[in-house]
Amino acid sequence: MKITDLKCAIIGQNPVIRIITDDGIDGLGAAEGSKPYLKPMVMFYKDAIIGKDPTDVERVMIGIRKMGAFKPWGAAVSAIEMALWDIAGKSAGVPVYKLLGGKVRDKVRVYNGNKRVKMNGNKPEDYAENMKQMRDFPEKFSIIKQGIAFHGDMAKDFPDYYYGSPTGFHTLSDEGFTLRDGLYRGLMTERGFNHTIECIEAMKDALGDEVGLALDVGPGVTVPDALKLAKAVEHLNIMWLEDMITGDYTPYVSADLYSKVTPYTTTPIHTGEQIYLRQNFKELFEKNAVNVIGPDPADVGGIAEMKWIAEYADLHGVLIAPHGTMDGLIGLAAHVHLAATLPQNYIAFEYPTGNPDWWYEILDGLPNPIVKDSYIEVWDAPGLGITFKRDIAEKHLREEDKGFFD
Ligand SMILES: [Mg+2]
Repeated sequence: MKITDLKCAIIGQNPVIRIITDDGIDGLGAAEGSKPYLKPMVMFYKDAIIGKDPTDVERVMIGIRKMGAFKPWGAAVSAIEMALWDIAGKSAGVPVYKLLGGKVRDKVRVYNGNKRVKMNGNKPEDYAENMKQMRDFPEKFSIIKQGIAFHGDMAKDFPDYYYGSPTGFHTLSDEGFTLRDGLYRGLMTERGFNHTIECIEAMKDALGDEVGLALDVGPGVTVPDALKLAKAVEHLNIMWLEDMITGDYTPYVSADLYSKVTPYTTTPIHTGEQIYLRQNFKELFEKNAVNVIGPDPADVGGIAEMKWIAEYADLHGVLIAPHGTMDGLIGLAAHVHLAATLPQNYIAFEYPTGNPDWWYEILDGLPNPIVKDSYIEVWDAPGLGITFKRDIAEKHLREEDKGFFD
């Protein structure tokens, strides 16, 4: 079998790729909805995969992995890897999880970092109310993640939250670059720090010990504040503190800085959603810099890349809670197959939703409802097990992507 074509369409906001072969089997992959500009990066790799046998996944990946990088380039490499596994599974007539070594669990736990209810304010009681609303979602998520400190609006909304100045940051969409509020970094004031703790306590009061609370905190927290915060919430049994110092589009790994925090607190410290490739996790493990990693299969280099990282993490006593909030429904399928095969250091992956809602109408193969009691049952159709309903999906293609299904 040979690859004959690579196509990329922006469907809703998600870049979706299709790899086409000479024997009629095609494969799907996707990247985060925050990257509607990704098409040129995907197409950069086209000539490097044409003519290769897609079922020799690793051989194709050796050719393009070295031309990837941290976001956004790693996203294009990852989406291609996903589609190769989809083809390999369909070609063998087995679900992707079988090709990764087989499943070790029949249903995979997910956590909620994506389905949100708008906050009514920024006081501790508003955070508590917000948690109660999310606790009552029909998915009955057993872990909910919330943004605090420099992740979200807390630093902006609370006067004199910290001693630094927001620099703003650019997001890239179809319309080009937009400068947004944020990119906070600096030492917290005592008032800002106390407010943070009060909000965390209020959320824990609301959730009790039935639902785990994970916190996305940075990046931008200083080393002393990170350690002070982690120690101050030890009695609250927080699931993890995510990306406090670096993370989220910082194209580097700060193992040395995290190793000044992680060994000195019982609160689990988490990072890794921005990281591309296994080599960039090595220092985090070997320097005892992290308790939980959160790579994203749509950024880290793909499904098999992440399986390898999870196994290596397990050897070092490090847990894994994969990032996935913007991965869309094709990304969801990749997460399910991967999570089914991960070792016992697996906690839960971050459940991505379809955006816009019509994404649920254009795909076949997903369970309905998708999440029951915070779990997704692993499905058995060949490959990733999802296919487009072409006639409905075609109506949502942009003008420039009209030939995507041809
Ligand atoms: Mg995060």
